[in-house]
Order: sequence, then C-alpha cells, then structure tokens
Amino acid sequence: MAENRMTIRKITPAIYYVEYKERFSMARALMRLSEYYDSPHFKGKIFGSEELIKWYISNSKKGKETGKFTYYDDWEGFNFPSEILEPFYHGKFDPLNTEEKELLESFREKIEAGEKFYIIATALDIFTKEVFQHELAHAFFYMNSSYKSQALDILGELSNSNLKILRDYVNSIHGIGYAEERITDEIHAYLITYDDVKAEGLDYPEFRKVHEKLISLLNRFYETEGNGEFSPYFNSTI
Ligand SMILES: [Zn+2]
Repeated sequence: MAENRMTIRKITPAIYYVEYKERFSMARALMRLSEYYDSPHFKGKIFGSEELIKWYISNSKKGKETGKFTYYDDWEGFNFPSEILEPFYHGKFDPLNTEEKELLESFREKIEAGEKFYIIATALDIFTKEVFQHELAHAFFYMNSSYKSQALDILGELSNSNLKILRDYVNSIHGIGYAEERITDEIHAYLITYDDVKAEGLDYPEFRKVHEKLISLLNRFYETEGNGEFSPYFNSTI
C-alpha cells in the first residue's frame, strides 16, 4: 500500500519531489496542506475536508458548472514549504485521512531533526515536464534567495499593464485563484510553464521574452543544485 502509492526523492539539498502513482491519492494527501498554504479562503486557517469540499464546489468554476467536486482533476501539481506540515503534526487538522497520515509519517524524522525543506508533487497519470517545472520553480523561489531576486528582476521587465493581465489570469485560475501573498510567485511559475498562459490567448512578445529568461534561470539553478540522479525535467518521459 503505502510504498506503492508514492515515491519520495530528494532532488536538491532542500527540495523533495513526491511522485504519486495517481492524482486521486495525491489530492487526498495534499489538498488540505496546499489550501492551508495558498488558498484565498483557507490560508492559515484550520478546516476539515468536508468544509473544503463544500467551499470548492460552490466557488470553483467547474464546481459551479457541475455541482461536483472536481479538485482531483483541476490540480496537477502541489507545492509547499515544510513549515506548513507543523499544525498537521500538532493535531490541529484531526481527523487526518490515510493519505495525509502517510505523507506526515514519511517526513516525520526530517522534521524532528529540524530539517527545513520544500515539497513538490505530481502524479504519474498526469505527469508532464511543464507541471514538474512549474512546481520546481516554486521550490526555488521560496528556498533560494538568489533565484528569487533574479526571478523578480526578470518579472520587473514586464509593463504594469501586462503585469495586471497576468495577475487577473492567475486570480481566475479554476475560478478561485490564490491568496494575495502567493500571486507574484504564481505569476513567475505560470510564466515558467507558459503553455497555460498561451492557452488562454495571452501570447504576447513580452511574455515570451520573460518566459525564456525565467526558464533558463530555472535550468541554471537545477543544473547546479540538482543531484542529477532524477531528472524528469530534462526528459520528456520518466
Ligand atoms: Zn503554482
């Protein structure tokens, strides 16, 4: 069971990549952690799964259209820093489901040893290089101040009106967007992926230029800090 559901790899000294077999168990394990970190509604709050499900159906785009909980299909990757795990270890989110317990158990020793790290995750049944790159970009943005300041310099090249377009885009994703504190990081990560931005018809020369600079920044950092043993980033399949 547990060992079949996911594989954890340390891909840089401060980043763990959790690869789930399928998106359903990934979302079961990570949705409350993720919403606690970056939801416009749940950030920093204690809440039950039922509450999240109800809120998501009433507020997300597909939820409103279908009346169903489409979270498992909507979100292809997850990311958050290790501090987010703390209230979950301290019993604030009881009861925990099986997948949440399994994730917490897997990282318990590292947390108890005082290790600070970042977790990113995707699932094999939806894996794309772009999702991996998007989540990896979040990890570097949070963990590496040099990466972050260079990424912010690159974003600084965007005109105010283009920045506003991106902010509106990020805020409209799946009809719910992100907590305010997470917007700049998400703009950077969506420009790394870029496919999603393009698919919305937002393919402007300035975005393309910034996308190329950001992806080469991410390349450089991952080539330097990545351990080279696991690199879906550089291969189209794993
Ligand atoms: Zn993101």
